[in-house]
Amino acid sequence: MPSRYDATREDLAELLAGEPAFRVRQVWDGLHSRVVAPAAMTELPAALRTHLDESLPPALVVARESISDDGDTIKWLWRLHDGALVETVLMHYADRSTVCVSSQAGCAMACGFCATGQAGFERQLTTGEIVEQVARAVERARPRRLSNVVLMGMGEPMANYDRVWPAIVRMHDDMGLSARHLTISTVGIVPGIRRLAGEDLPVNMAVSLHAANDTLRDEMVPINKRYPLADLMDACADYLAAKGRRLSFEWALIAGVNDRGRDAEELAALARPLGAHVNLIPLNPTPGYATPGTPPEGVRRFRDALGALGVNATVRQNRGTEIDAACGQLRATAVQIT
Ligand code: SF4
Repeated sequence: MPSRYDATREDLAELLAGEPAFRVRQVWDGLHSRVVAPAAMTELPAALRTHLDESLPPALVVARESISDDGDTIKWLWRLHDGALVETVLMHYADRSTVCVSSQAGCAMACGFCATGQAGFERQLTTGEIVEQVARAVERARPRRLSNVVLMGMGEPMANYDRVWPAIVRMHDDMGLSARHLTISTVGIVPGIRRLAGEDLPVNMAVSLHAANDTLRDEMVPINKRYPLADLMDACADYLAAKGRRLSFEWALIAGVNDRGRDAEELAALARPLGAHVNLIPLNPTPGYATPGTPPEGVRRFRDALGALGVNATVRQNRGTEIDAACGQLRATAVQIT
């Protein structure tokens, strides 16, 4: 039997053979809309609860849980059935609770500054493994309501599109999350962006840009050689025209590499015509990349330079640096314990 969130309605029907037909919907809603384990579905007879609990095991087993920021940041390292390790981070803010979800175990994109990239690609996550990360965050966030999901954890979501998109649809249709609060990140896989533009749900897109000229980006984000900036910006413009959603550019600030005045000018020239919002992330230390992040004063200067050039930029609060849960750091812990 598949795992709890990999089971389809058809799988549930098979498991519930002999039960009244409405049970399938009852269990599906229990898992997705009420987000409770079968054992807690008190509307079901006790024997059935036990049967379901045993037949639908969770896919995610906690290998480690770390808490920081006074309990406002919780990071899980999960062990999957085949031993693969992935991470999920839940972040509480004053006005929202956001979960950062992984889409692959490891990543093949090989961005040099990223801990996940340094460790290489292991395998695609299934739709159920992606959805279950959200379900576990919903449960843990209570009594707060999980409002936002960002696919910015381990992996490149567009490189696992066929499993990621059904997961997004389930978060929206079955778990009741608003499309406005769902964000897919990409390092710039143009065919994926074009596919996303053709979907019905208008989700947000965050492009991990990090460099605004091809020479530097080829170096930092190797997939740029296949999908250079001109093609990427065309795809972003078409996405905006089709969806009218918010587009953001992620920019990991690295001292002396992409934090100079010239970098701000090049970035503004790309962001302004698209009305893109820029999220600045001072790079966190990772084991395999020696260059440090931009210091706070330089981060402010870069943000102000963008502002003066007509681009809205926010400095991303660096959540969870003490537990290796900040952007570009996922997988660092996993590497240490394997
Ligand atoms: S930055 Fe994103 S796309 Fe690049 S290696 Fe890391 S996880 Fe993969």
